[in-house]
Amino acid sequence: SVTLEGVEKSFGAVTVLKAIDLEIADGEFLVLLGPSGCGKSTTMRMIAGLETISRGTMLMGGRDVTNTHPRERNVAMVFQNYALYPHMTVADNIGYPLRVAKVEKAERRRQVEAAAARVDLEPYLKRYPRDLSGGQRQRVALARALVRDPEVFLLDEPLSNLDAKLRVAMRAEIKHLHRTLGVTMIYVTHDQIEAMTLADRVVLLSGGEIQQVGTPDDIYDDPENLFVAGFIGSPP
Ligand code: ATP
Ligand code: MG
Repeated sequence: SVTLEGVEKSFGAVTVLKAIDLEIADGEFLVLLGPSGCGKSTTMRMIAGLETISRGTMLMGGRDVTNTHPRERNVAMVFQNYALYPHMTVADNIGYPLRVAKVEKAERRRQVEAAAARVDLEPYLKRYPRDLSGGQRQRVALARALVRDPEVFLLDEPLSNLDAKLRVAMRAEIKHLHRTLGVTMIYVTHDQIEAMTLADRVVLLSGGEIQQVGTPDDIYDDPENLFVAGFIGSPP
C-alpha cells in the first residue's frame, strides 16, 4: 500500500498541493485526474521520491519513506515523452536499470527478454528508438519499468503523445498488464473517459486539493461538488 497523510508541497511561498490524504491498496488501479496545473505530476514525483514533501508523511507497505532516497522504494515511473536513450538499442534501454543495479549479463538478457515478451517487443530488441513507432516506444518504456519488478507502477500521461486510435489500444494493453502483474498502478490523466475506463478508483484533483475520491460510478452518479459535476460532465 501507499499512504499519504496530510501531504503538502510548496515551491517557495506557493503551495501547490494541500492536505492530501490518500490510501492506495496493493494491486489497485488508481487514476489521478484533473486539469492542467492541478498537481498531478508533482504528486507522482513525490511518490517516486523525485520531489521532496514539504509537510506530512508518506508510507509504503507500512514503512515511512517520507523524503527518503528514490532507491529506498520499489517504484518505477513511465513518462509521457518515453525518455528513452536514443543511442542505445531497445534491449539496452530495457536493461538499463539492471545494468545500474549491476546484474550480470546473462541474467540481464534473460530478464530483458521476459519483460519484452510481456509487451510484445521481442522482434524489436536490436532496433534503436528512432526506428520505432510511438506505440512501440511507449512499450519500451513500459518494459524498462517492468524489468525492475516494481511494487508500484507510476504512469504520468503515458499515452498523450499517441493518436486517438493507438491510445485506446494501449489503454487496453496497460489494463491487461495490470491484471496479469497484480501490481499497484497509479495513472495520471486529464482525460475523463480514460480515467473512467481504467480506474478502480479515481482521485479528482483541482487547485492542489482532492475534490473527490471514489469508483468511476460513485463519481459519475454522485458528484460531491459543482467542480466534480462539471469536470465529469454529468448534470449537478
Ligand atoms: P499538467 O496536466 O499540465 O501536466 P499537473 O497537474 O501535472 O499539470 P504539476 O506539474 O504537478 O501539474 O504542477 C502543479 C503546480 O506546481 C503548477 O502550478 C506548476 O506551475 C507548479 N510547479 C511544478 N513544478 C514546479 C517547480 N519546480 N517550481 C515551481 N512551481 C512548480
Ligand atoms: Mg503533469
